[in-house]
Amino acid sequence: MTSSKTGNKRKLKEIREFRKQVLAWYDRHARILPWRSPPGQKPDPYHVWLSEIMLQQTTVGAVIPYFEKFLRKWPDIKALANAERQDVMSAWAGLGYYTRARNLHTCAKVVLEEMNGIFPEEEKALLALPGIGPYTAAAVSAIAFNKPTNVVDGNIERIMARYFAVTEPLPGIKKKLKAHALALSNKQSERPGDYAQALMDIGAGICTPRTPKCGICPIQAGCKGYNQGIAKDLPARAVKPLKPQRFGFLYWIQDKEGRVLLHRRPEKGLLGGTYGLPTSDWVDASERDNLEHLKHFQEIRFEGDDRKKIRHSFTHFDLELEVRRSAPVKSLKIGKDYFWHRTEDIGDFGFPSVFKKALKLNL
Ligand code: SF4
Repeated sequence: MTSSKTGNKRKLKEIREFRKQVLAWYDRHARILPWRSPPGQKPDPYHVWLSEIMLQQTTVGAVIPYFEKFLRKWPDIKALANAERQDVMSAWAGLGYYTRARNLHTCAKVVLEEMNGIFPEEEKALLALPGIGPYTAAAVSAIAFNKPTNVVDGNIERIMARYFAVTEPLPGIKKKLKAHALALSNKQSERPGDYAQALMDIGAGICTPRTPKCGICPIQAGCKGYNQGIAKDLPARAVKPLKPQRFGFLYWIQDKEGRVLLHRRPEKGLLGGTYGLPTSDWVDASERDNLEHLKHFQEIRFEGDDRKKIRHSFTHFDLELEVRRSAPVKSLKIGKDYFWHRTEDIGDFGFPSVFKKALKLNL
């Protein structure tokens, strides 16, 4: 009994020491980011939430200009909730994962209409909002409201794998890494928001994926991965299967007035609700020779020798689109999601990256 009490005390002391080192480092080296509040000031939950949604699957460098643009256009939750859906989608164009933009807008409406424009503070209530998963709920609760949650992003996973020398491969060890992070966070109420951001910063700037800068790391003394000389090889990763390859046609169809045919993609599914050029179905690359044009384009005469290609990589597959350019068409029976538009300003639609690549081909 006495020895387990001593063991617990020692553990608690180690945890306090770890957190002290992390926070002391943060006080000197915290990154200055547009969504962070200056020292001593309360963070704005709208800024924290907006940045965390944008940072899902996206780097800080890519997010900063989008975050600043959104704040200029919609400085608070009310302004964003009252924005037109299409304006939000257009402002998001290029950041990818468009479901995030739709959920962002829906979430803003829910917070305005059902919560009087005030974000809930607790993880559980945040988790019930559109577009907020477990990581984002924990991050917003900790950073915006200083609640002691267990925030574990990719950077923090890497630190945990190295600090505790976990040698099994990701993704199978995610739970284990979260449990390690929890052991360091649980019931620790000292500056939880700063602690989470400090670990994120250490992961981004010191405990980096390829060459960790262990020489300047504030938690080096207790890092098992460093002490065993295996840090840079952690976390190990299971070998990824090759991405599936898909193929499709991209249509550049003009009418006699020189307007081009555009398509609004269905709300659900990949690139849902965005505007772009029409495409055929996207089939497995092995089926490319059997791919037929969409039914309503089958009568169109396409210029046979135009074989410009666009290659784009999505998270779960790579896509090759082969361009089919039409001679000017007189009339076309098309569904309500298709419409003609002047070529001069189609760039203003805020196309997703795959269609921006098509515009660069000067079709
Ligand atoms: S000592 Fe090295 S491996 Fe360990 S946490 Fe610090 S940077 Fe990462």
